[in-house]
Parts: sequence; structure tokens; C-alpha cells
Amino acid sequence: MFKGILIEKDEAGYRASLTHLDEAALPEGDVTVRVSHSTLNYKDALAITGKGPVVRKFPMVPGIDLAGTVEHSTHADYRTGDAVILNGWGVGETHWGGLAQKARVHGNWLVPLPPQFTPQQAMAIGTAGYTAMLCVLALERHGITPDHGEILVTGAAGGVGSVATAVLTRLGFQVVAVSGRPAEADYLKSLGAVEVLDRAMFTTPGKPLGKERWAGAVDVVGSHTLANVCATTKYGGVVTACGLAGGMDFPATVAPFILRGVTLAGIDSVMCPRTVRMEAWRRLGTDLDLSKLAAISKEVGLSEVMPLATQLLNGEVRGRVVVDVN
Ligand code: NDP
Repeated sequence: MFKGILIEKDEAGYRASLTHLDEAALPEGDVTVRVSHSTLNYKDALAITGKGPVVRKFPMVPGIDLAGTVEHSTHADYRTGDAVILNGWGVGETHWGGLAQKARVHGNWLVPLPPQFTPQQAMAIGTAGYTAMLCVLALERHGITPDHGEILVTGAAGGVGSVATAVLTRLGFQVVAVSGRPAEADYLKSLGAVEVLDRAMFTTPGKPLGKERWAGAVDVVGSHTLANVCATTKYGGVVTACGLAGGMDFPATVAPFILRGVTLAGIDSVMCPRTVRMEAWRRLGTDLDLSKLAAISKEVGLSEVMPLATQLLNGEVRGRVVVDVN
């Protein structure tokens, strides 16, 4: 038996509880991992609270991220004792996830723990941080360099936003952060933001085109915010869209794309090909200041996850949450 969070949905309703799970109930897979750390991402909070249709099979162990040690493997690339991490691939949605002391997964989903990080640090980055790096890679792929101008990061005090702010700053970009929490302005400046703008400037309907300002953007909010970010991006700029914290809709016009050549780059971490993942983790190893990572993250135990999930969806959690599952 091992400890884990279990989400159930039946006549008694939708609920998540910390419980003891039987190893015999683990799903199919060729690698069994003794989990040391997991995380709490926005998607995990949706799954745990039932506020979003994340879980597609019940009962489900949530947790889209895990770090741990291989306990048993029939996969050619992994042996007992190997340190590994996992992000996405439907884990915590359709396949039991990381918010438990054990997981059984497909070896092809695993990535060796990058040597620069402890398991705790890898989970302080987690899917949110790896997604932030996917956004940075997309900006680079489209030719955006620091001399092009300012990069806007929305939802900046959250997980993706905090890591994006720290990494872009380290790469020499001028980062302008957008946040609904004025109290976090000093935190965002400590990560490197040169200016912090009030979220309210972006969350209401705007004009199809506004004054050109951003060379690029990392948007985690969606809805009017994404539309306004596109409308104020400079000629030839690139907006990376990875989130929906403000809504799933996109009430925009094509004006920024057809009149200013703005590129809207979609970012997905879940099914992202392995080569791109490996590159993102390699770059996190070189381009994320570990002292900033410590400021971005806090650690909790499994029993604290449920109340934190509600707080996270209320926008009350700063940066990243690491879960020590033991
Ligand atoms: P967090 O909750 O840590 O951060 C989200 C931030 O968005 C909040 O901290 C807040 O920042 C801001 N925010 C919250 N609600 C609103 C609102 N109603 N309007 C405007 N801003 C708001 O989440 P994560 O950083 O983990 O994830 C961010 C988004 O990215 C989520 O939608 C998540 O689903 C998505 N995501 C997508 C991935 C992909 O593969 N495409 C992978 C990872 C995440 P502040 O207080 O500073 O305003």
C-alpha cells in the first residue's frame, strides 16, 4: 500500500481525498516509479476541485508531473535506481499521475532527471516551468532577440509567468510583467521584470489594433487579455499562447496578423515531442537561475494539496508549488 490522492466521481459526487492505494491497482506500464516529488499546476487544481473537465477516467490519481526513482522496469532505456521525471502525456488525466508515492507509466513518457537539478528543483519547475521554456523556444524560433524590444508576460506571478520572467531576464530580454496582484510587484522585479502593469489594462474588450509596444509575449490568460496583447504587439512580433487562466475564448480580430504580420504561436506541453522536451529541459539547465527558482517555489505535503488547489484557482498562490509526497 502507498499514500496518494484519489479523485472519485459517483452517486456521492465528485471528490478528492488523501488515501491509501493498493499497488495492484496501478495502471499498466513498463516502468514503476517510486515518486519523491510532484507539483500542483493549474490543471491539477482544476482536476482536484472538479472545476474543469481534466479527469477523463475515474477513479484517478491526479498529478501531471512527477519526479522519482525507477523501482522496476522492463523498458530498454530505464533500470532500477534511475532518476526520472515525467510531464504530461495525459498522466493525471487518463492515466494515474504523480500525486502519490508510486506511479506506473510508459517508459517513453519519461525523461532522465536533468543533471543540473535535484528532483525537488525539477518539480519546482514542473510542467509550468517547462511550458514557460517552450514559449521562450518559440520566441527564439521565430527570430525574436533582446534587441527587438520588450517582452510582455501575463499572469506573471503564477507558475508559468514566474519562470518565463526569470528565464527571459537571464537571456537579456526586457520583461514587462502583467499581474492582478500589486503586492507581488517587488517579487516580480526580483525575478527581473523592469515594469509591472495592472492586469485590468488587458482584461476588458479593446480595439482591434492599439499602440505597438511588444516584440513578443508569453500569455497564460487567454480571452480579452490575449486579444489585447496581440493588438499591441509590434510589427513582426510573436505572441506565444499557452493558457486560459482568464478564459478559453479569444475575442480578437485578424487585424494584428494581417496588418502587422504578428505571429500567434500555440504552445502545448502535454503531447510535445520528446526531442523538444529534452531541448526545453536542457535549456532550463542553462538559462534558469537556481536562486530565482528557490524564490519562485514553496514545498508542501500531500495533505496540504486540496486546500491549495482552491487557492491556486482563486489566483492566490504565488509561483510554483512542489509536493513532497513522502
Ligand atoms: P497559475 O495559477 O500558477 O498562474 C496563473 C496566473 O494567471 C495567476 O497567478 C494570475 O496571475 C493570472 N490569472 C489568474 N486568473 C486570472 C484572470 N481571471 N484574469 C487574468 N489573469 C488571471 O497557473 P500556471 O502558471 O500553472 O498556468 C497558467 C495557465 O497556463 C493555465 O491556464 C494553465 O492551464 C496553462 N498551462 C498550459 C500548458 C500547456 O501545455 N499549454 C502547460 C501549463 C500551463 P497574477 O496574479 O500575476 O495576475
